[in-house]
Amino acid sequence: MVTTCDYSYLPCQFCVGKNHCEQCGEDIRKSLMGVDGVADVRMDVPARKLTLTLDGADFDDVCDAAEVLGVFL
Ligand SMILES: [Zn+2]
Repeated sequence: MVTTCDYSYLPCQFCVGKNHCEQCGEDIRKSLMGVDGVADVRMDVPARKLTLTLDGADFDDVCDAAEVLGVFL
């Protein structure tokens, strides 16, 4: 199952990009890839879109994991 969602915020308060940057997007991507049942994660930072390919994971669980990382969907 492929899901695309918009996000409004990345945890950039400690980096120079502040509100959205490629480095933070990549860190988030790698972390979400580690969630059980997530097959693929794509971050389109300029467009602020997150595309998730789920293979057994519940979308809500991935959202929770993203929230813990500081991403507001
Ligand atoms: Zn950043």
